[in-house]
Amino acid sequence: MCGLLGPDALCDVCGADFVPLDTTPVRLSGGPLDARLCAYRYRGRAAQAVRRLKYQRVTSLADPMARRLAEHARNFEADLLVPVPIHWSRLHYRGFNQSERLAEAVETVPLAPGALRRIRATRPQVGLDRAQRLGNLRGAFRASPEVEGTRVLLLDDVMTSGGTALECARALKEGGARSVMLLAFASWGPDEPDWAAP
Ligand SMILES: [Zn+2]
Repeated sequence: MCGLLGPDALCDVCGADFVPLDTTPVRLSGGPLDARLCAYRYRGRAAQAVRRLKYQRVTSLADPMARRLAEHARNFEADLLVPVPIHWSRLHYRGFNQSERLAEAVETVPLAPGALRRIRATRPQVGLDRAQRLGNLRGAFRASPEVEGTRVLLLDDVMTSGGTALECARALKEGGARSVMLLAFASWGPDEPDWAAP
């Protein structure tokens, strides 16, 4: 990312710029999401890594990012690891689901990429206010029967307003999931304007 050549797409200097956010799961109440762990603040090299993977398709970043997430996944006792799905039209355009790539290094929770489907394409959340974001996502996801009675660890690349994670959690709970926890690579912090308080 900094232009230094090496065997890994993420060098130690860039990695050292990542600002840790949650180091253990944060319990949440009053909504469908039961806990969250957002590994890094969405700024600097961490934000750059998220954007390059997602928008510039720098897939060599996925492995070093996924290895970092895998370490955090050890904090959770869960039955299914479910990447936040993207709609097939976006998958077709991008060629991969970034959240699924980030889930691939997690060995402590079985991966269930088909447990949640995006049944409706949505407008990008960027530029929408909070009410518009929630309305935009309503009914966008559907859970498969395999989630019934399970503890789900939902995985996303970045949590912005939290709307996507909440809507995924709602669909998973409707599908019978016992608990839903979120593991995200990066997030805006609680002191920043776009943060949705739990
Ligand atoms: Zn670097």
